[in-house]
Amino acid sequence: MEALATDETPTPATEHSLIEVNDLKKRYMMGSQEVWALDGVSLSIEEGDYVAVMGPSGSGKSTLMNMLGCLDTPTSGTYHLRGEDVSTFSDNELAEIRNHEIGFVFQTFNLLPRVNCLRNAELPLIYAGMSKRDRRERATEALRNVGLGDRLDHRPNELSGGQRQRVATARALVNDPSLLLADEPTGNLDTETGDEIMQLLEALHRQGNTILLVTHEEPIAHHARRIIHLRDGKLEHTETVDQPALADEEIELG
Ligand code: ADP
Ligand code: MG
Repeated sequence: MEALATDETPTPATEHSLIEVNDLKKRYMMGSQEVWALDGVSLSIEEGDYVAVMGPSGSGKSTLMNMLGCLDTPTSGTYHLRGEDVSTFSDNELAEIRNHEIGFVFQTFNLLPRVNCLRNAELPLIYAGMSKRDRRERATEALRNVGLGDRLDHRPNELSGGQRQRVATARALVNDPSLLLADEPTGNLDTETGDEIMQLLEALHRQGNTILLVTHEEPIAHHARRIIHLRDGKLEHTETVDQPALADEEIELG
């Protein structure tokens, strides 16, 4: 009878993780054979998290990233993004979510070769229908933030691999997305350049960005604060990473 029956304010229903995935499955057909690329994955990601997804080739990393990035829909299970069940969304609704909530960085950079850095970085804003002036301003700011303020007019082939991946990262963040998804972002880079990109991700994490990094390389995964290990489409275990306390001055954007 006690305190429970009184007029206490209920907990607001709006308190949820940025991402909540429950028993997510994805089946592909290879001819007549079923492949469960994801076989019952549950996880949550909070705003400001820095999470790595690790696993051997074929373990389902890219499939998971495609689901979380709203590039594809699951066979079953639920995916809540900011409390909304996007696993039931239509292609158009998914495109909308992708434009506003997700920034992608790929192993192969995927830049437009014929246009300069500024044009590449402002691309998502064109899709979002922003005016030219605002686009220029936002894209310039995004490129400055990755240390490329002096390369606005360069084309991709006039840049190093590391610089190209920085342009791709600026493009991914120009919309101020809720989540930055990076699938093997250092896969096409030498070790030193890869380290430079990992330092960039660290700085972006410290600025408050939520990052999900997909990699099959242990040392790369250890830059994150949490590592999710996948095997055969299942979550094997989750590892918490103790980062050495770095001073902010040690993180440079070049
Ligand atoms: P990873 O990124 O960890 O290497 P993937 O997510 O690409 O793994 O693939 C997981 C499994 O799903 C693999 O067995 C792969 O062959 C299969 N797979 C992925 N995409 C497709 C597809 N479009 N059609 C058929 N099988 C696929
Ligand atoms: Mg992959």
